[in-house]
Amino acid sequence: MNTHAHYDHCFGNAAFRPATVWGTRGCAAALRATGEAQRAARVAELRAAGDDDAAEQVRRAPLDPPDALVDDVAVLDVGGVEVVLRFLGRGHTGHDLVVEVEDGTVFAGDLVEEGAPPAFDDAFPTEWPATLGRLHALARGAVVPGHGAVVDADFVGAQREELLAALAAVRAGDLHRGPYDAATMRVAAARLR
Ligand SMILES: [Zn+2]
Repeated sequence: MNTHAHYDHCFGNAAFRPATVWGTRGCAAALRATGEAQRAARVAELRAAGDDDAAEQVRRAPLDPPDALVDDVAVLDVGGVEVVLRFLGRGHTGHDLVVEVEDGTVFAGDLVEEGAPPAFDDAFPTEWPATLGRLHALARGAVVPGHGAVVDADFVGAQREELLAALAAVRAGDLHRGPYDAATMRVAAARLR
């Protein structure tokens, strides 16, 4: 299951074949549209950092978009366990998919970020808080973020409040009032233009 089309969440798809790979229709389209540009940028970063082995792995990774596509919701039976895939609205990207397991665990992708500010580069900052509100309503147990430690519904609620504060600061034209560092706030502001 791909939560979204950023390289660190989907460049490994080919390693799992012949398994079915699920994602939103938008995720598959975004990976086709941006995969090579993402690859070039990441390879350049890794080479600049002197990590030639990782650069070579990224250079060779086949682009393998999801082939089981979700528009709104899909209910799967995974070895007797019900797993629900949902598009809850735009946020970190335009095509984030959330995975809900019957025990209440939610895999949130980068809609939820622990240990670092949320990434706004491809985000929809005005819609992200409402999407997190829906995610918050689903969360009954562990919430697995796209990065960092496992969190819970309270963390999701707090991140929603932070996003609203960031949005208010951007709209007020005072990025220093926001909850995130200046670089993050500038990217958020750029996505509102
Ligand atoms: Zn991401």
